[in-house]
Amino acid sequence: MKYLTTIGLEVHVQLKTRSKMFCACAVEYGAGPNAHTCPTCLGLPGALPVMNQHALELTTLTGLMLDCAIAPYCKFDRKNYFYPDMPKNYQISQYDLPICVGGAVPLHDLAYPKDAQKSIATPDKKVGLVRIHLEEDVAKSFHYDTSTGVDFNRAGTPLMEIVTEPEIGSPEEAFAFLSSLRQILLYGGVSDADMEKGQLRCDCNVSVRPEGQAEFGSKIEIKNMNTVSGVRKALAYEVQRQTAELEGGRKLQQETRRWDDASAQTFLMRTKENAHDYRYFPDPDLMPVRTETLVTTARAGMPELPSAKRARFVDQYGVSGYDAAVLADDQDLSAYFEAAAAKAAKPKAIVNWVLNDLLSAVSSAGKGMRECPLPPQALTELVDLIDAGKISGKQGKEVFAEMFGSGKGAATIVKEKGLEQLSDTGTLEALVDQVIAANPKPVADFKAGNPAPLNFLKGQVMKLSKGQANPVVTSEILQRKLTAGEGPGGV
Ligand SMILES: [Zn+2]
Repeated sequence: MKYLTTIGLEVHVQLKTRSKMFCACAVEYGAGPNAHTCPTCLGLPGALPVMNQHALELTTLTGLMLDCAIAPYCKFDRKNYFYPDMPKNYQISQYDLPICVGGAVPLHDLAYPKDAQKSIATPDKKVGLVRIHLEEDVAKSFHYDTSTGVDFNRAGTPLMEIVTEPEIGSPEEAFAFLSSLRQILLYGGVSDADMEKGQLRCDCNVSVRPEGQAEFGSKIEIKNMNTVSGVRKALAYEVQRQTAELEGGRKLQQETRRWDDASAQTFLMRTKENAHDYRYFPDPDLMPVRTETLVTTARAGMPELPSAKRARFVDQYGVSGYDAAVLADDQDLSAYFEAAAAKAAKPKAIVNWVLNDLLSAVSSAGKGMRECPLPPQALTELVDLIDAGKISGKQGKEVFAEMFGSGKGAATIVKEKGLEQLSDTGTLEALVDQVIAANPKPVADFKAGNPAPLNFLKGQVMKLSKGQANPVVTSEILQRKLTAGEGPGGV
């Protein structure tokens, strides 16, 4: 029997604000334990929350980027439960009136895992969203041998929750969804979305049902995933486990599981019986929010989205769709390419240098594009020299390495190394004549119909010019001179 997989994700995104959601404490990753706390984020009695406008703006911007409807007004609610990392015994969140409703995340080909890019089940798929709401993050517990410590630096930092429709059909699509979403968040400057720092985390809901069955299978949730590859692995494991259960004639029940990366398995955490009732109610300390001015501000900050950038690169610079996607994948890389291509005679030539030579040089230097020692204009200069036939492509590689290491300009290096190609036809013709006169045997062989000596003769011209003869022009002149006067009455 065939089984269908249904996946929905709840993604938590830490917003890139300077201060927390409801107090003025700094948001800083890696600060000493409890360095950024105050009565509000410690939940002390009587402390009052004040909304962070920037967090509201960033959430609105996310909604606009993902084509959501922005609610005319939204409100904050208390989600009640006890946990040591949440000092108020409730979390401020949004229940029935979130900021953003609907919307979708378009999945692009390069967002799929590399090994799955050739077998994408539904190209150009868009995964629909249910909602995006804003809440505060909780503190972080650290478990030691005999005790547990709580660090409240994270408590109260702005957290955006993005909930998808159950429209993701495979672990690979879930991977593509997270990568595509992450790219858009980075484009909007909404979050650094660094999963290692816990800035992007997700809960996965996955169920399996026999093909032909209308209702979804039992929803099983995997909590707190913090790598995109982990999400793919955990989902693949669950799909296999649930399918095996169903095939063995066993029933699945709604439950929450946790993924263990080391053993590559999921483990049961709790079943539906002890599901929470959070008893939401509107937070009486916070007024509802009208979103009109937030929308105006967010609209002004709308970036060019990755899909638009990819299309524009193809149109404007004539690069391939694949190259455009690779360039647009990284904002620093695409900015570099644009700066170099803007003044280049042939932007298409620039893209090859950027994607091959430059990227590999930057990565072997252990740097990011932002620390690239070669300014874009320098690359343009080099590519234009090659394009104009001043130096060969091979010499270009040499000049490139030197530029990357020394920071000198291409023209300066060409001059210093005496690399400039000899393209002057007058001079080249004289050299060719000299070579023809000095090598009667190969010349005769060639004229007798053996093409092999041509390369030898060309090599002689190169040698005579100390490697500076333009090989293309040299070939042309040689062929012309050797075939001229052929036929009856010829030499
Ligand atoms: Zn605080």
